[in-house]
Amino acid sequence: MSQKTKILYVEDDPSSVILVQRVLGAEGFEVVNASDGLSAIETAKREMPDLILMDINIGGLDGYEVTTRLRSIEELEDVPIVAVTAATLKGDRERALIAGCTGYIPKPIDVDTFPDQVRSFLRGAREEIESPQKKEEYLVEYSRRLVDRLEEKLRELEKAHAELQRVDKMKTDFIVLAGHELRTPLTAIYGYAQILQASPLIQGSSEEVGSLRFIVDKMLQATWRLNQVIGDILNVSLIDADKLDLVIGPVYIGDLVKRAIRDITDTATDRQLTFESSGLDDLPMVMGDEKQLYQALWNVITNAVKYTPDGGRITIEGEVVERGDETFVHIQVKDTGVGIPQEDLERIFDHFYVLEDTALHSSSKTAFKGGGLGLGLTVARGIIEAHKGRIWAESQGRDEVQLPGSTFHILLPIGDPKKMF
Ligand code: ADP
Repeated sequence: MSQKTKILYVEDDPSSVILVQRVLGAEGFEVVNASDGLSAIETAKREMPDLILMDINIGGLDGYEVTTRLRSIEELEDVPIVAVTAATLKGDRERALIAGCTGYIPKPIDVDTFPDQVRSFLRGAREEIESPQKKEEYLVEYSRRLVDRLEEKLRELEKAHAELQRVDKMKTDFIVLAGHELRTPLTAIYGYAQILQASPLIQGSSEEVGSLRFIVDKMLQATWRLNQVIGDILNVSLIDADKLDLVIGPVYIGDLVKRAIRDITDTATDRQLTFESSGLDDLPMVMGDEKQLYQALWNVITNAVKYTPDGGRITIEGEVVERGDETFVHIQVKDTGVGIPQEDLERIFDHFYVLEDTALHSSSKTAFKGGGLGLGLTVARGIIEAHKGRIWAESQGRDEVQLPGSTFHILLPIGDPKKMF
């Protein structure tokens, strides 16, 4: 079976497309359509048509510009491009030829002669601008017009960019403001709950479900968790705006990790997880923001808890390593959990990136697969990088049966803080 001659019709008016498809289809041509400038270029590259019919007044790049662009594609150099457009202005034909068109068919098309016109262009017919002087004049006009259009597009882009920045700033301002507004009453609740917790009037024990002490403990835990979530939200907007203010001081990173483990095991009492650590006592001091580093460690270790089923093990190792001429503290958080698909190892650090189905969101910080906002690792990376450190993940893939586990690496430089910050 011989292949049909393929025609690409660049046109945004559906009724014209239907008409041309009918007329040329009846003559055995295959007609494909593209309705705007950019998709015309993509379609032409993909479909490699034998001839292109080009409407001039299309969105995005116009027909002239698309033609000029197509002419610079080697494989399409010799494909006839025929302008099909309502002749409204004097010189439209010449403009089309200057832009690189092979010929010109005015609209409305004459259905009786149209197939023959197309055939003649397929056989090699070519229209020319007769007068060299006219040709030159149109060429100058076309180049000017292109520059004008470019300027216009650049101005539009600049305007759109400024608008995006304005909206983005509004969003950041709102998040920061809302975060602070939420945090103030939360601090009061937390403080009063602590007073209640210390009061001898509060009866019962933390283990006695329903007792006043149990209730106050749960209130404190929930408030603490809310505080961490607000911390993540505030931090991520500050990290995005490059405004994370670090309060630099000496940090005993080993102690900080141990504190994070303690706080997490206090919260995840029902999870039957084993925590192991090594090398933490021998770690040197680093210069950094203790509160922020704690938040980063907390986020990574709670993830290890969240994505490891009951009975699993979380191992945290600390060591000192040399990289180039710099010395780093290297913390590894290893779990025996579900693991991470290889293709997502980088993406999990993106904003709001969660692998789980958000419909199954349980929002617990420690329950198995308890979902979060997808900000934990974004914040952790922002904090570690603000300390000139690095954080990355390793895993053999995700498998909820085999449980390949994941390892998170954190490198924090030990050096002269004045040189670093
Ligand atoms: P969230 O705050 O929702 O937990 P994160 O930014 O901390 O979001 O994590 C993003 C995603 O990375 C999680 O939804 C999870 O799928 C995946 N992830 C993070 N840590 C681990 C881990 N230790 N094991 C398996 N998956 C993980």
